[in-house]
Amino acid sequence: PQLQLLGEVSMQLEQGVEFEEPGFEALDNYDGDLTSQVIVKMPEEIEEVGTHEIEYEVIDSSGNSQKAIRTIEVTKKTVVTPPTPPTPPKPVDAGVIYLTFDDGPHGINTAKVLDILKQEEVKATFFVVGVGPDELIKRAHDEGHTIGLHTYTHKYNEIYASVNSYYADLNKISDRVESIIGKKSYILRFPGGSSNAVSRRYSLGIMTTLTKDVINRGYRYFDWNVSGQDAERGATSASVYQNVIKDLSKNRSNNVLLHDIQPHTVAALRDIIRYAKANGYRFEPITMETPMIRHRLAN
Ligand SMILES: [Zn+2]
Repeated sequence: PQLQLLGEVSMQLEQGVEFEEPGFEALDNYDGDLTSQVIVKMPEEIEEVGTHEIEYEVIDSSGNSQKAIRTIEVTKKTVVTPPTPPTPPKPVDAGVIYLTFDDGPHGINTAKVLDILKQEEVKATFFVVGVGPDELIKRAHDEGHTIGLHTYTHKYNEIYASVNSYYADLNKISDRVESIIGKKSYILRFPGGSSNAVSRRYSLGIMTTLTKDVINRGYRYFDWNVSGQDAERGATSASVYQNVIKDLSKNRSNNVLLHDIQPHTVAALRDIIRYAKANGYRFEPITMETPMIRHRLAN
């Protein structure tokens, strides 16, 4: 009889991988198909590392035998060490402090903030509204600070009444800033932050729309990850200082929310700057290249 092995006559298997018979055929010119008569002798140690032979034998009705051998080389299991997950790279602006001042300018306090920043050679960002003297916006810009847009009225019931009313207000503050500093600002801070839960009272889901839409229009918006809580009732220069320094981190950028209209913020500012300098932080104004700090929406 004829005995033919299907598949590879010489196979390699990794240890632990089960051998699967690729098949065989036995034909005899007298008995016909004898495949079902083939006897397969599987070595007992087939699962051990080494070379093993599987013996196939068929005997026809006349007692003639035919053998075939398949060689199986079982190789050691290659231990795959899982790749160590890469440690996430520190953000490029790790250890940077972006001081941000909202709701100004204020005739007295913003001027004092600017004086301190100048003496300490620190650049910051002012998210301005529709009040206060133009000269202070001009001065902040001329002294190297970034002028961002907060909104004109800062009235939640107006700005968050609808997408259109938000942009109507934004255009007003944008025009004000452009007329003072001679160029448009595309750097935004939403009143209450993008995470505010107040806007839903006036227009459910409006922050979901606005946060996407402002970016489509070429703006960048910045929430914060450190807050002086200087607009809270009972805030003092000591509380503002503590609130800021307790949340500063060298492993990320620090977008610090402050309000230049608050006297206790003015009083805390120099100590905050000196603490940060002494601890190796550096200060930068927000630019269009600054990675956005974005809150989780809550509308
Ligand atoms: Zn504000």
